[in-house]
Amino acid sequence: MLTRSALIYLSRHEGFKEFAAHFKPFQKVTTRFVAGETVEEAIAAIRELNAAGCSASFDHLNESVANAREAQNEVEEYLRILDQIEKTGINSNVSIKLTQFGLELDPELAYKNARAIVVEAARRGNFVRVDMESSSVTQVTIDIFKRLRSEFGVNDVGIVLQSYLRRTYADAQDLLKIPARIRICKGAYNEPPEVAVPDKKDTDENYVRVMQLLLSSGIYHGIATHDPKMIDATLEFSRREGIPKAAFEFQMLYGVRRDLQRQLAKDGYNMRVYVPYGKHWYPYFMRRLAERPANIWFVLKNVLKG
Ligand SMILES: Cc1cc2nc3c(=O)[nH]c(=O)nc-3n(C[C@H](O)[C@H](O)[C@H](O)COP(=O)(O)OP(=O)(O)OC[C@H]3O[C@@H](n4cnc5c(N)ncnc54)[C@H](O)[C@@H]3O)c2cc1C
Repeated sequence: MLTRSALIYLSRHEGFKEFAAHFKPFQKVTTRFVAGETVEEAIAAIRELNAAGCSASFDHLNESVANAREAQNEVEEYLRILDQIEKTGINSNVSIKLTQFGLELDPELAYKNARAIVVEAARRGNFVRVDMESSSVTQVTIDIFKRLRSEFGVNDVGIVLQSYLRRTYADAQDLLKIPARIRICKGAYNEPPEVAVPDKKDTDENYVRVMQLLLSSGIYHGIATHDPKMIDATLEFSRREGIPKAAFEFQMLYGVRRDLQRQLAKDGYNMRVYVPYGKHWYPYFMRRLAERPANIWFVLKNVLKG
């Protein structure tokens, strides 16, 4: 737990970032979790996933922008991605973070920028997933999503909920009334106990409750996890309730449990892999390390090898 907190702390620490970003062996190991720095590298990774029966979701890494110009650059990058998806014929949608579009500068700017992406995705028959970030922006993220959803269809834009948050079951019930396509995940940020359950056991229990609520709704949702217990609970519940394999999708992160990704796809389940790429890989990479201490050994081994 201490390691997780320390790594999440470091993920926001500029000094360590500078060190890591310029340390070649450290950069090398990032390629396990990050598809590359350019859209072309991400497309190549997605082609491989598609060949293995998995769909994908692009994530251009850049979590907080300093000004409206940087936010506009992010919009342009996503418009390019949507164009490239159509031109190359790869099977992928896109995931966006509202802070990337200026949420911390001005929520209205983030809404307008996100809207520009959704307009383009809807026009091309694609789909935009609004990722969920730290609890300081949960409500504003839901508010912006609802605004977008009032203007676009259920298959144009969706949202993410995190099972460690105490509010999530009620949020899921509320969003299903619209209705909305939801990705349920456990949650990746350091949160205080007032807003998030501190025990993993409670996060997992809540995950299963929300998963069951989502799968019973008749809407197409994303079950995002690498946890075999959560996956088994989903398989067991869907079989018991007669929910077809085509009615939902599993989602995992690039480079994490590739064996399980391939196996679920082979078994006929929809499997979507979240493919992050871009120059700003550092905070994303550190959060992945924080999730699993074994990954730190993976890094150290590679760093020592040089
Ligand atoms: C497609 C997708 C989208 C996501 N979107 C968001 C989002 O919008 N907002 C957000 O807060 N979080 C997001 N997450 C991250 C998520 O909240 C968790 O932090 C992450 O998925 C780890 O939780 P877990 O369900 O895999 O279970 P855990 O209990 O963390 O892990 C269970 C098991 O999975 C394996 N595993 C998990 N993580 C790793 C890893 N990094 N490396 C190797 N093995 C691992 C290990 O075997 C581990 O024992 C997303 C995750 C996925 C898969």
